[in-house]
Amino acid sequence: MKTLWPGATIGVLGGGQLGRMMALAARRMGYRIIVLDPSPRCPTAQVSDGVVVGALDDRDAARHLARQVDVITLDTEHVPADVLDELDKIAPVRPGPTVLRTIQDRQVQKQFLDGLGLPQAMWAPSSDRIQLADALAKVGRPAILKVRRAGYDGKGQVRIEADGDPFSQLEKLRGEPAVAEELVPFKREISVILARGLAGDLQIYPIAENVHRRHILHTTRAPAPMTTEGKRSAEEIAVTVAEALGHVGVIAVEMFELPSGKLLVNEIAPRTHNSGHYTYGACVTSQFEQHVRAICGLPLGDPRLMTGAVMVNLIGDLWRSGPPTWQPVLARPEARLHLYGKDAPAPGRKMGHVLLLDDDTDRALATADQLIADLSATPSSSA
Ligand code: ATP
Ligand code: MG
Repeated sequence: MKTLWPGATIGVLGGGQLGRMMALAARRMGYRIIVLDPSPRCPTAQVSDGVVVGALDDRDAARHLARQVDVITLDTEHVPADVLDELDKIAPVRPGPTVLRTIQDRQVQKQFLDGLGLPQAMWAPSSDRIQLADALAKVGRPAILKVRRAGYDGKGQVRIEADGDPFSQLEKLRGEPAVAEELVPFKREISVILARGLAGDLQIYPIAENVHRRHILHTTRAPAPMTTEGKRSAEEIAVTVAEALGHVGVIAVEMFELPSGKLLVNEIAPRTHNSGHYTYGACVTSQFEQHVRAICGLPLGDPRLMTGAVMVNLIGDLWRSGPPTWQPVLARPEARLHLYGKDAPAPGRKMGHVLLLDDDTDRALATADQLIADLSATPSSSA
């Protein structure tokens, strides 16, 4: 097992904000970064040493990247696993192709969780009318239909109401294979982010508490208020998942907490996670540095929390009439503004986030909502 010391080159498949924040951490440590993305101006390319322009399933482009790097990692789990198998012969892919193959199809992921005996929402395959009818008999209504592949931020999901027509909802998925899930009456959502090193060593971050709006993450609070027992069982689930996958790198396990305190796994993200952005301001080692350490075979860093934190996402809707005026954010000493350099704001698109470093996380959550209201209300900076 070869350690890749600073000076080595990391290849990143996909050039979104996760790749960008990892690249910033990696370059600070002296690593070089080359990214594969269809756009030469993508968020990661803007802070990288090199970019290979190509789609994520463009084998020639991906091989071209692989030949220039010492290790390959991913900004998204939606790179075809067959491409990863091929690249793995040129430079190690971390996390490995098997991990991605298990995660990137929701149905396979759910079967994997069932196989481990981990609790999750009731689910059933639901790709056509016959399956959907059987699935609804099992999971009940309301239910949520989710496409098996390539969904994110609630895209590729439709809700089936108790009294609506389920078949017209199925048609909205345009024949994409799907699964149906019971609608979970959760009390709150949490996520456990951890890193697993090349030697199987583990470091677990403080648990994050997440609020979604329109299926998109709105705020994260860390640390999530947890009972000792709740924390132990959440961590145990996440560790079981990471070890069973043989994961290398950062991984996030999203969970629903029921009113009884019982936890259900929602989904697994085999990468850095939006609910872990707080770590770069609040923890000794950010999730991005931690991922670099894991895939390069370095010892893992300390995930300890140095301050309470709230992260609030900045969604494209705020750009309705041009870029917002950042004065309300920048005037707050505890606030840190992070923009991803995306040139096409669109409703529902994640454009950046604000971190509020404050031990009083109730206060920080109130500040976060106030800031979003202020940013929505202020005239744009270009006006
Ligand atoms: P992301 O990649 O942003 O995590 P995604 O598109 O993969 O999103 P999910 O995590 O499956 O989608 O769902 C997004 C959000 O929608 C969840 O965090 C939760 O708030 C809500 N949601 C999803 N499934 C259910 C369910 N079965 N019951 C209740 N709420 C749900
Ligand atoms: Mg999710």
